[in-house]
Amino acid sequence: MATIVKSYEPTFWDKLYLPALMRGLIVTFRHFFRKNVTIQYPDQKHIPPEGYRGLHRLNKYPEGRIKCVACEMCSAACPADCIHIIPGPSPWDGGKERYPVRFDIDLLRCIFCGFCEMACPEEAIELTEIYDFSDYTRDDLVIDKEGLLEVYDLTKDQNYYTKKNLSKASSVNTSIDT
Ligand code: SF4
Ligand code: SF4
Repeated sequence: MATIVKSYEPTFWDKLYLPALMRGLIVTFRHFFRKNVTIQYPDQKHIPPEGYRGLHRLNKYPEGRIKCVACEMCSAACPADCIHIIPGPSPWDGGKERYPVRFDIDLLRCIFCGFCEMACPEEAIELTEIYDFSDYTRDDLVIDKEGLLEVYDLTKDQNYYTKKNLSKASSVNTSIDT
């Protein structure tokens, strides 16, 4: 049996539109007095929570020697196959025999899973809080060893996005890489 649906007949107040308009304005005014949840990016930066996995860095010892020993455990663990290392004999005396002559990460392939960080026996590779990096070409989004060491210098104090570092933060894109 067919169902008859009656079309909606607007009431007198509906036809005036004023009550609906007032209801909408009340919602708008209520939001005037609430705390903003938006920020004025890029002048203001969101500070990510601890443990956020952003742009990678290669760590150094206090005397400046790179911690990486080019064992390639990170590239073996990487599910995206985006870490490429060329090892060479270490130029420093004592202990570690190898170091990375080249160390590239293809940031467009990376899925920021953190497996490289977990696989590293030297705590040499780490993911930082930096999330706002960009560039114009695919090639420029391959970060190299010098870029990764520069990220270490920028993030070693764990205050990259604090007000103190905002001027630096605004300048970071992957143009720091190559
Ligand atoms: S975060 Fe994951 S995908 Fe990115 S380089 Fe490390 S292991 Fe590879
Ligand atoms: S970053 Fe760590 S895991 Fe990767 S090559 Fe260097 S020492 Fe090995």
